[in-house]
Amino acid sequence: MRTLLLTFILILIMLFSAVQSSAQPVQTKKYVIFRDDDVGLGSLKTLQAVNQVHIDENVPLTLAIIPHPNVNGTGNELLWNTSINNYLKSIVTNPLFEFAQHGYTHQNNSLTSGSGNPSEFAGEPLEVQYDAIRQGRDDIRGAFGVTPTTFVPPWDNGDLTTLVALRALGFTEYCTGGTEFPHLKDRVNGIQVERAAIDFDISGSYDALNKSVEEAKKTTDQFLNDPNNDTLIVGYHLWAFNAPDGSADARKVQLLRDYIDYVKNTGEVQFARLDRSATMGTETAAAASSGLTNVSGISAVASSGLTKVSSVLTPYKMWLSSGVAVACLFSFEWVVGPKKSARK
Ligand SMILES: [Zn+2]
Repeated sequence: MRTLLLTFILILIMLFSAVQSSAQPVQTKKYVIFRDDDVGLGSLKTLQAVNQVHIDENVPLTLAIIPHPNVNGTGNELLWNTSINNYLKSIVTNPLFEFAQHGYTHQNNSLTSGSGNPSEFAGEPLEVQYDAIRQGRDDIRGAFGVTPTTFVPPWDNGDLTTLVALRALGFTEYCTGGTEFPHLKDRVNGIQVERAAIDFDISGSYDALNKSVEEAKKTTDQFLNDPNNDTLIVGYHLWAFNAPDGSADARKVQLLRDYIDYVKNTGEVQFARLDRSATMGTETAAAASSGLTNVSGISAVASSGLTKVSSVLTPYKMWLSSGVAVACLFSFEWVVGPKKSARK
């Protein structure tokens, strides 16, 4: 009789803790990633000023580098002794900065003529795309000693063939824009397709940039309230922060700093590079990257995050309920014990 009662109590406790466990809201980490396009063009002063914001704020940045912007140039243009190339060389060991590849020449239809899209790659044959991407990758590796694993298609426009070429070349991340994203997401195994949900204004005026930053704050709030999305990618072009004379406009650069502070002040947000290798915040880089690699698409990232959290929660709950059960057994014995010996 007593054993039966004990078993009944134990089952009740296990059931109770199981219900408690499944009723817990699962908290996923929220990641914000910045992407700077067209690195290699424009003023060194602006590039330095924008990068300095990321250094001061300790917020990573993926630099989308154009390997061969001068179509008439020969050889590896990134080895040319330019101030931008020398500057890029000086920051390559800083873990805040990811060196990603932004096309090859970043010229519309420069590879072969004929495709109607505003794109360097879309519509081009596989061999043509493969050779251009490989050359760009090799140029970045030759100049800076790092092999890019992230590819950003110029004008946020490539095609399925681009993904196949990238995969064959060992790329694992393709970051594009909203128009292309739904067509290419989850189409090729081994390469994650993501989109920049925010793109700061590039018209050049302070007011337009300010307005786009204000809109970005609203998009950020929506992202933070969306349980199905754990990554927000913010794209910008460094030349959007230029003054009319080509130098950096301090007021515009301040808008970027303000936006980063706004994101920080919202609470639990981690910052990462597109390759996820440098995640800043309370979590270690290794933990963050293991949770985010080998997945494709944002939904996959979100679900892997959920699995990670629940796998941490489950053993904890089990230990807790076991502990409570043992404590109840002991207290039951303590109450019932003397009566048992008295009865005997
Ligand atoms: Zn571009």
